[in-house]
Amino acid sequence: MKKAVVFGAGGFIGAHLVRRLKAEGYWVRGVDLKRPAFGASAADEFVVGDLRDRDVVDRAIDRGFEALYQLAADMGGAGYLFSGDNDAAVMHNSALINLHTAELALVRKVGRVFFSSSACIYPKYNQVDPDNPKCAEDSAYPADPDSEYGWEKLFAERLYLAFHKNHGLDVRIARFHNVFGPEGPWRGGKEKAPAALCRKVAEATDAIEIWGDGQQTRSFLYVDDCIDGILAHMRSDFVGPVNIGSEEMISINDFANMIMDVSGKRLIIKHVAGPQGVRGRNSDNALAWEKMHWAPKLTLREGIERLYRWVLAESGR
Ligand code: NAD
Repeated sequence: MKKAVVFGAGGFIGAHLVRRLKAEGYWVRGVDLKRPAFGASAADEFVVGDLRDRDVVDRAIDRGFEALYQLAADMGGAGYLFSGDNDAAVMHNSALINLHTAELALVRKVGRVFFSSSACIYPKYNQVDPDNPKCAEDSAYPADPDSEYGWEKLFAERLYLAFHKNHGLDVRIARFHNVFGPEGPWRGGKEKAPAALCRKVAEATDAIEIWGDGQQTRSFLYVDDCIDGILAHMRSDFVGPVNIGSEEMISINDFANMIMDVSGKRLIIKHVAGPQGVRGRNSDNALAWEKMHWAPKLTLREGIERLYRWVLAESGR
């Protein structure tokens, strides 16, 4: 039986990935600081452990794994990543996990390693115009990410690529762009825009608050499409980095209106000060299509209908 190990299996994308790997016939070990927040993990074995600890990483990959998915990271939404208050932790914690993973995946002869990088590696100077952000893979340098989270991801990409170049570590690197869907954080500070807006709309009676002027643009990828992209990448010969995102760009104001439309509510949008990140960001999927024949299947509206239903149920409304 094929064996896979998922680091970050207690997280949002990790929990979905474990479920899919099981459906594809893998024996799966999940590792995380915590178990999934929504329901039991589908993993055959779930190790609660701290991957900053080298021994935990070493023990986690002690049996000929065909595939290691490295999704663990100190991470959150804009409020967590862009306030600056968590920069030291974000960089230190995630770098330790990646340093141990790259080294020990080689020592333990893991078949293939997947690393989840982020659209946050793209330079600020290409994301100042909300109507024309540039996020093609080869636009990453000269580097100027707008957050320490992005700098750590860029470092980790280069780390895995160096292990690939010098030691033949078989790696696949993808840059995720704003993944959303059920069973992700939707309150408490680590939630991102889609879940946060769904919650605000679900709870509001007359108005919702949006950080900034709402004219900043983004694209959002439904989690099932993200998992399809990960597996397509792992099956392909292309090392990466490659974008896994949606090209359906939308302003945050229009996005809020779409969610209100789905909810059947008409609410006033109040613009308030808050961390926003770059002015514009959109995925560029040309390379993903060329190298692995992958593109998202769901529209943003279809994904949001599923997420809104889920947030509504979670909030008990
Ligand atoms: P998440 O926060 O839900 O999952 C990350 C998991 O890593 C968490 O469960 C956390 O407990 C675990 N973790 C953190 N530190 C750990 C440690 N020291 N030891 C063991 N486990 C630890 O995030 P997610 O949305 O599922 O994202 C998964 C990956 O994809 C992350 O690497 C993230 O940076 C990347 N990514 C996500 C998005 C997105 O929109 N969700 C976008 C770009 C990149």
